[in-house]
Amino acid sequence: MKKISQKVFRQKLLAKREQVLSALGMKFDTLARMGRVAEEDQAQVTHDEFVSLHLNNLDYEELRLVEEALDRLDSGNYGICLACEEPIPPKRLHALSWARYCVRCEEEMGAARVCSG
Ligand SMILES: [Zn+2]
Repeated sequence: MKKISQKVFRQKLLAKREQVLSALGMKFDTLARMGRVAEEDQAQVTHDEFVSLHLNNLDYEELRLVEEALDRLDSGNYGICLACEEPIPPKRLHALSWARYCVRCEEEMGAARVCSG
């Protein structure tokens, strides 16, 4: 199998994770300031619970995809389609470095919601 430049993708993924985390953090702060969550309660509500209860899940789902991709980098499965186990074309990985499926499989699943805005 052709070796892909994992370092590049790791950097992309880490940058993306930072971006999503700071976006989530900002929303968290905003809601807290609006008094939706009392300061004392913040410690009791886990971040996960808070996010799933109060926020649009899109950012959080994106974050999960990024984390999954980083796991796959660590385990050496990165860039392999989870459905058909064919290598995902590097072109696609450059555009969508946390892609789980090749284009064909993703189209078959009708999952065109990632990154549509
Ligand atoms: Zn596939």
